[in-house]
Amino acid sequence: MAYQLICPCGENITSLNDEFVDDVQAHLSAEHPGRNYSANDIMSMAMEVSDKLVKPKS
Ligand SMILES: [Zn+2]
Repeated sequence: MAYQLICPCGENITSLNDEFVDDVQAHLSAEHPGRNYSANDIMSMAMEVSDKLVKPKS
């Protein structure tokens, strides 16, 4: 299972379930310092998507 969140800045974050919250929080701290969301907040904004949409890590 994977999840996707389109950030208001346009960034598309798509990650497997066990990495998703970490990836979103990493994006927030890198691009939007001062915005802190709990795992629950992040999951409430996320959409469930196919694993096939997850890009391999580079
Ligand atoms: Zn963003």
